[in-house]
Amino acid sequence: MKIQENVSLGELTTFRTGGAARYFASVKNISDLKIAVRFAKEKKLPFFILGRGANVLVSDAGFCGLVIKMEIRGIEVKELLNKKARAIAGAGEEWDSFVAKTVKRKLCGLENLSFIPGTVGASAVGNIGAYGTEVKDHILFVEALDTETMKVKKFSNKECSFGYRESFFKTKEGKKYIVTRVTFSLKKNGALKTDYKDVLEFFENKKIISPTQKNVREAIIEIRKKKLPDVSFVGTAGSFFKNPVVSKRKAGALKETYPNLPFFLSGEKSVKIPAGFLLDKVCGFKGYKKGNVGTWENQALVLVNYGGATTKEILDFADVMKKKVKEKTGIDLEMEVKVIK
Ligand SMILES: Cc1cc2nc3c(=O)[nH]c(=O)nc-3n(C[C@H](O)[C@H](O)[C@H](O)COP(=O)(O)OP(=O)(O)OC[C@H]3O[C@@H](n4cnc5c(N)ncnc54)[C@H](O)[C@@H]3O)c2cc1C
Repeated sequence: MKIQENVSLGELTTFRTGGAARYFASVKNISDLKIAVRFAKEKKLPFFILGRGANVLVSDAGFCGLVIKMEIRGIEVKELLNKKARAIAGAGEEWDSFVAKTVKRKLCGLENLSFIPGTVGASAVGNIGAYGTEVKDHILFVEALDTETMKVKKFSNKECSFGYRESFFKTKEGKKYIVTRVTFSLKKNGALKTDYKDVLEFFENKKIISPTQKNVREAIIEIRKKKLPDVSFVGTAGSFFKNPVVSKRKAGALKETYPNLPFFLSGEKSVKIPAGFLLDKVCGFKGYKKGNVGTWENQALVLVNYGGATTKEILDFADVMKKKVKEKTGIDLEMEVKVIK
C-alpha cells in the first residue's frame, strides 16, 4: 500500500469542497489499515477515516494529517434456520449496493435505507436512518480496530450505544476505533415497514395493495430521487443539521406560535422536531441562495454547493441559518455533517 502526499479531498466528498490531505492512504484490508495507523503514529499525526465522504465537509485549508480511505470490501451472507439470516459486509462496501444485494436475496430489514450514499462502516458509526428505519435495528455486531492495542474488537449491538445519528464510535472513548466489518441480522421474506407517510402515499397512488420488498426499495429510490439532489451533479451532504430534541414543554410553547409544528416522541419528556420545518416554515429558507451556496429547492435542510463554493461559504451560510432558528425559536441546531480540519 502506497502512502500518497498532498491529495486533494474535494472530489472524494459529495460536497466537493475543501483542500488537500497532507498524507493519504487507501486501505483494502486490516493489514493495510494497521500500516496506515502506525505511519500516523510514528509521524505523530492525527488521522481521519474517510468513507464515501457523504457526511463530511473538508476545511479549505485541508487536513494536516493522514486521511485513511476505507476500502475494506467483501460481503458474506449466511441463511440460518427459521428464515433468519446474517449478512456480513466490509466497512468499505458501498452501502446501497449492499442493500441491493440483500433485497435481491429477499432478506428483509434494510430496504427502507435504500439509496443513502455512503459506506457500510459509516452506516454503523452514524446510525443512519430513513423512512422509519434505523440501521441499529438490524446490526448484530460491529468489528473495529483498536488503534491503541492494534487488535480488532467485536462489539455487540448494545456495546455500540446507538442513538439518533450517534454511536459509541463517535464518542471520545470510541474514536480510537476504526470500523472494519459489520454483521447485520435480517429475515427472509420478513415484515416490511410501509407506514411512513410518503411511502404509504406512493403505494396508494400506484394502487399497490400488498407491496413486496422489491416494491419498497423501488418506492424509496423514487421518493428520494424526487426529494433530494443527485450527488453526481450537485454538491451536498444531505441533511446538514440534526433534528433537534426539545422538552415537551418547549414544543408545546412553540406550538402556540406555530400551530402546524410537527413533532415526534423521543423519550418520556422530550420530542424531536423536524429541523426542515423550522428552516422552511418558520424561517423561510427553502430555495434560499447566496452566492454559490443555497438550500435545495425541495428541502431547506439540505445545503447545496451550486458550483465553486468554498467550505467557508457553506459554513457561513449554515451559521446564518442557525442564528435565525435560534432567534425565532430559541433552539440551537446541531450540525449532522462533520468538518474535517
Ligand atoms: C443526498 C444525501 C442524502 C442523505 N440521506 C441520508 C439519510 O436519509 N439518512 C442518513 O442517516 N444519512 C443520510 N445522508 C448522510 C450520509 O449518506 C450518511 O451519513 C452516510 O453514512 C455517510 O457515509 P460515508 O461513507 O460517506 O461517511 P463519511 O462521510 O466518509 O464519514 C462520516 C463520518 O464517519 C466516520 N467514518 C467513516 N467510516 C468509518 C469507519 N470505517 N470507522 C470509523 N469511522 C468512520 C468518518 O470519519 C466521519 O466522521 C445523506 C447524504 C447525502 C449526500
